[in-house]
Parts: sequence; C-alpha cells; structure tokens
Amino acid sequence: MFDTHCHLQDDRISARIGDIVAAAKSAGVAKMLCCGSGVADWDGVEQIGAAYADDGVVCAYGAHPFYLENIDLGGSWEDELSKRLAADPSAAVGEIGLDHAVSPRDDERQAEIFARQLKIAERYGRPVSMHCRKAFGAMMAILRDNGGLKFGGAVHSYSGPPDLVDELAELGCCISFSGSILIPTNKRAIASLKKTPKDRLLIETDSPDILPYGATGPFNEPANLSLILNKVAEILEESPKKVAELTYENGCRLF
Ligand SMILES: [Zn+2]
Repeated sequence: MFDTHCHLQDDRISARIGDIVAAAKSAGVAKMLCCGSGVADWDGVEQIGAAYADDGVVCAYGAHPFYLENIDLGGSWEDELSKRLAADPSAAVGEIGLDHAVSPRDDERQAEIFARQLKIAERYGRPVSMHCRKAFGAMMAILRDNGGLKFGGAVHSYSGPPDLVDELAELGCCISFSGSILIPTNKRAIASLKKTPKDRLLIETDSPDILPYGATGPFNEPANLSLILNKVAEILEESPKKVAELTYENGCRLF
C-alpha cells in the first residue's frame, strides 16, 4: 500500500519514528508521502526522508493554509522551497491549499500563496498534495486559471461534492480518501469515492490526524492504512488486494 498523505515529522509522533516506520512496513505500507506544513517543519521532513528513504518515505515540501502567518510574501520562502525541490528530485509539493473554515483567515493571502506554490511545482515538474476545506469554488478557479496540473496532484482527504470529481480529474487531480470514509454518515465521501475514476484513486491516513474508527490512539499512523483500504474496497465491492494494487500503482505514477 501507498499512504499518499501523512506527516511523520509532526511533534506528536516524530519521537517514535523508528517504531512507526517499522509498524507501517509490517502492515504492508511500502510507501509514504511525508508532507510538510510550512517552512518550520521542512528540515524535519528532510531528515526523515533521508533516514527512511529505503523504507519508502518520499518527501513533500509546502506551506499549509493553517500555517501561513510566518510567510513574508516578499521574503525568501519561495527560494527555500525551490532549493528543497532542486536538492531532492523525488520530492513533491505539499501540503498546500485553501481552507475557508479556519479562523482567523485571509482568503486572498491563502489564494496567493497556494497559486505561487503551484507555479513552483510546475517549474520543477512536481506533483502537488492539496488540502481543501469549504473552498472548492475558489480552488477550482485557481486550478482552471493555472491550466490544470501539468504534473498532476491529489486532493487529500477529499471532502468536496461528488459532482466535482470529473472536472478535478480533467484538471489532472487524483482523489485521495482518508479515515473520514469510515464515518457511516459521510454519505458525500462515499458518493465521491464511487464517482472517482479507478486510475485516479488514492488512499491515505493523514497521520497523526484523522484517527480511523477502530484504530488504537491517541494518534493516527500509517500502519492504520489497511482500515481505510478495507472500507474503500467494501464500498467499491472490490477485493482489498485489488484496491491495494490499484492505489499503489496510482500513487507511484503520481509521486
Ligand atoms: Zn495533512
């Protein structure tokens, strides 16, 4: 399996990184995309990527919409991001995106920083991992303006309307499902999953967040990915083995 969105550098779990990677491995997670949240944790992502590359950790560097307060729009953060990408040809750009549910927030600033990161990803020929909460109209407008994603990307822990799945796929996006698919009342995610083209389907834990129902906490980790795999397989009426193979291939093609 490929956990296409997690945050192994997060302070809540990073002290146990050796155990977490070993547990992921024995649970059948062969690859993990470790996503940064902002300039402050990119060193942590890089260190984990270097230490656990042989265990399938792939790095992503990006500024998440929750953590934009330290970004000086005229400052050197874009050079810093570019430097990380130049140094690691396998690195993706993420976690980036828009969040219109966080407070306080500045929508214009979020959009500017998101669009700039899409440009940097394109300049370096990299895929992106995107966060989007209650901001799908704005995100679609930016993706359309950008002419789609030339090097692909994923909308992680997809919470948008099922009706957007087709256009997102046309714009170059994969759709990634997290433990929120295990919430029985989450009819919207279930409908979106059923609409997702098979070659655009991904699974993820978003660990240490979104602890899936049935997992031992307090924090989520990549070893829990099979709970999400099994649920996705059940909804799609496919075998877990087939969904594991399919999502692994899709993840490897993208990241
Ligand atoms: Zn995340």
